[in-house]
Amino acid sequence: MTAAIIDGKAFAAKVRAQVAEHVARLKDESGIQPGLAVVLVGEDPASQVYVSSKGKQTIEVGMASFEHKLPADTSETDLLALIDRLNRDPAVHGILVQLPLPSHLNSELVINSIEPSKDVDGFHISNVGLLGTGQKSMVPCTPLGCLMMLRDHHGKLAGMNAVVVGRSNIVGKPMAQLLLGDSCTVTIAHSRTRDLAAVCRGADILVAAVGRPEMLTGDYVKPGATVIDVGINRIERNGKMKLVGDVEYASAVAVAGAVTPVPGGVGPMTIACLLANTLTACCRAHGLPEPAGLTA
Ligand code: NDP
Repeated sequence: MTAAIIDGKAFAAKVRAQVAEHVARLKDESGIQPGLAVVLVGEDPASQVYVSSKGKQTIEVGMASFEHKLPADTSETDLLALIDRLNRDPAVHGILVQLPLPSHLNSELVINSIEPSKDVDGFHISNVGLLGTGQKSMVPCTPLGCLMMLRDHHGKLAGMNAVVVGRSNIVGKPMAQLLLGDSCTVTIAHSRTRDLAAVCRGADILVAAVGRPEMLTGDYVKPGATVIDVGINRIERNGKMKLVGDVEYASAVAVAGAVTPVPGGVGPMTIACLLANTLTACCRAHGLPEPAGLTA
């Protein structure tokens, strides 16, 4: 038996099409155009690539894109002043500050200065608290994308055993909260977990968000389980650079029921969910119904 491949690239295209359709209807019926502001401080090459593809996809779905590229030595006062302007700008429904920030800037302070209803990354402490208490919040994009793929594949997730490997604030913890919200029985594993393979083999849903290339082999996978590989690791193999996940694909695919590939799995869903969150924020700001199927 080989696992079904969960095609994140195709799924993300479907999400973007749904967002685009909703945006077009909003413009037609209410004259409202959702707007996303992305703030980049400095010249980190990976961040520049992310920001430009976010801007491009924002425009493709019919939203307004506002890019703010600031020099690496921007002061905290200037950055906070820009965020304050964006918070008050009615044309901006979503604000994203690209991380990591240069080390002289306090990331927590900066993120927590974003108006929570515009915090489309879902990293503001208010949104973390709302998610943790099961209330309506802005949900971090990567775990939201994972949840959408799981719901699409399984329908209802209630009662399933889910193991999330990784406890970061941007992936592991919110992923666990979302799975709990869908009534899974959730275990969060991390670097101090004892007998990780045995813990993982108890999972009907295994989410790997570790940042270690191909660490979870087929031995960590229960036969028939669904494996969501969040990892993005660049490694050199046979003299070539290659992108691999946190799961050893070849051995996992022989055991699992379904697997997300890397690339083409979770990755493309992240920006699609950013656009979905911006649309949701816009609908909430105007007291309009939220787009169905695009929120947690
Ligand atoms: P972090 O480095 O913040 O967290 C990694 C987590 O993995 C930590 O909780 C750590 O445990 C745990 N861990 C590390 N080593 C082990 C081990 N040997 N056994 C068990 N657990 C371990 O990473 P992120 O959550 O930010 O990212 C995880 C991966 O997901 C990365 O590859 C990243 O590139 C990718 N990513 C992909 C995104 C996408 O769009 N697809 C978006 C965001 C991230 P401890 O807390 O004990 O140290």
